[in-house]
Amino acid sequence: MSTPRKAISYQLVIRVARAVTVRVGALGQVRFAPGRYIYTGSAKRAIEARVARHLAGARRLHWHIDHLLAAPGVRVTATRLSPRPECSLNQATAGSIPVPRFGASDCRAGCGSHLKYQGRH
Ligand SMILES: [Zn+2]
Repeated sequence: MSTPRKAISYQLVIRVARAVTVRVGALGQVRFAPGRYIYTGSAKRAIEARVARHLAGARRLHWHIDHLLAAPGVRVTATRLSPRPECSLNQATAGSIPVPRFGASDCRAGCGSHLKYQGRH
């Protein structure tokens, strides 16, 4: 994985092979349709370690995304690092909002969700 200058945000390209219902912390039970999702996150330090943590599968489910990635049939198919602020990157990403507030608990930019659904591919 190459690092663009001062990467401060990252995206995970996620494939959901079949519909899954996942308990996502305070968001409750959420059903995810099969298809491709893009999750946008940030880490001020050690961003590569954060991405590696997502790829390895977190032992403790802390962020919303941890719950989705722990579900059967769900995997990360690509990762991207970016120097853009996460909300700007997220808002420039095509797709619908499958789960309001997912990954956006501390978003102040009105994203609605930091997870986008790009349909079945
Ligand atoms: Zn945002």
